[in-house]
Amino acid sequence: MSKIKAIRGMNDILPEQTPLWQYLEDCTRRVLNRYGYQQIRLPIVEQTELFKRSIGEVTDIVEKEMYTFDDRNGESLTLRPEGTAGCVRACEEHGLTFNQIQRLYYTGPMFRYERPQKGRYRQFHQIGVETFGMVGPDIDAELILLSARLWRELGLEENVRLELNSLGSSQARKTYRDELIAYLGNFKDELDPDSQRRLTSNPLRILDSKDGKTQEILKQAPSFVDFLDQESAIHFQELRTILDDNGIQYEVNPRLVRGLDYYCKTVFEWITDDLGAQGTVCAGGRYDGLVEQLGGRTTPAVGFAMGIERLVLMLQTLQRQPLGIDKTADVYLVAAGEEAQRWAIKLAEQIRNELDSLRVQVNCGASSFKAQLKRADKSGADVALIIGEEELAASEVSVKPLRGNGEQVRLSAGQLANHIKALMNK
Ligand code: ATP
Ligand code: MG
Repeated sequence: MSKIKAIRGMNDILPEQTPLWQYLEDCTRRVLNRYGYQQIRLPIVEQTELFKRSIGEVTDIVEKEMYTFDDRNGESLTLRPEGTAGCVRACEEHGLTFNQIQRLYYTGPMFRYERPQKGRYRQFHQIGVETFGMVGPDIDAELILLSARLWRELGLEENVRLELNSLGSSQARKTYRDELIAYLGNFKDELDPDSQRRLTSNPLRILDSKDGKTQEILKQAPSFVDFLDQESAIHFQELRTILDDNGIQYEVNPRLVRGLDYYCKTVFEWITDDLGAQGTVCAGGRYDGLVEQLGGRTTPAVGFAMGIERLVLMLQTLQRQPLGIDKTADVYLVAAGEEAQRWAIKLAEQIRNELDSLRVQVNCGASSFKAQLKRADKSGADVALIIGEEELAASEVSVKPLRGNGEQVRLSAGQLANHIKALMNK
């Protein structure tokens, strides 16, 4: 019988990879805590309508990337392709948005039917941050400062750059949209097929086209900067001032439009040149109109999402893993025979009672001393505790340093914890 395999583009994250994932998640959570953000946990499945109404009917995501199915009641459901829509839905449903300030984050899998390649998968993971109730550029800046701090904590600050743009008000975008359609209409037949299709449905997305000929045509296109409404222009300028105050470097990219319809005013992306084509590791922006669009009262909002797989790839590629990250034990117990094994189990429990941050592993599954010591070494432990026949007879344990050139000593059970503590603190 043929073996059943995982779905294309949906990855198993194996034990050798999870330490890096946890490290990244822990770092992020710590940074978010330091800025006073709270976690929200959301369902993975939502009504299809939620995504259509928020992300936009004529976006890539809704047109061709969603995993949509009818449940047994015939209701159309979709595996979430992103987290913002669900977060807004939940906050509205539980009265968390109106007249309140919220700083929230969530993490988990997202699903998009894309062509799988390095840094692009069909099930991928994001850490998303959303804020509600704050109109000014101060909170936009906070989100950027927070993410910049995370890159510093992870040792990635030299490897990411920030691109910024303002999409202005919906009115300004509408005026610009018409101008852009008028201009691009002159070159309709020369545009790439995707852009031709978008000319009437979603012309701003054409600015993002990777096609050489289309890019050439875009060079002479009207620039959005000339259409930006005054309020958005002031907002953008103030954001830039706060970033300058805090020494954050950025590049204003007038072509940055993002693939989701709900953005207005500030949009930004953190991009790396170390991963090839899939270079955006974190992206977000302001979406002041979305809460209302989903039936709530007007609520200013801004957020971003980072792609965990891409950040993990970066940490690996640039070798920024912290030392000893794949270690599973600090202390490894090795025993010869049944009686020694029973004592080893008891001793290990005793050590765990006394030293609660230590990772203590007992060799299980009888095997030769040599094989056990090999496992001890593989675990990354600094010390092996050995109970052989001699040790058992004397009610003592041999403490064998596995790294460096410390001396092996024999101790009674009562002396163990202190000795190990001293060894580890060196
Ligand atoms: P891209 O331009 O790379 O397609 P996007 O604009 O579709 O990204 P968002 O929807 O803003 O991305 O999602 C935020 C982040 O989530 C991205 O910057 C990226 O790091 C990550 N991401 C998005 N789609 C995928 C995917 N299919 N596989 C892995 N990571 C992804
Ligand atoms: Mg995409």
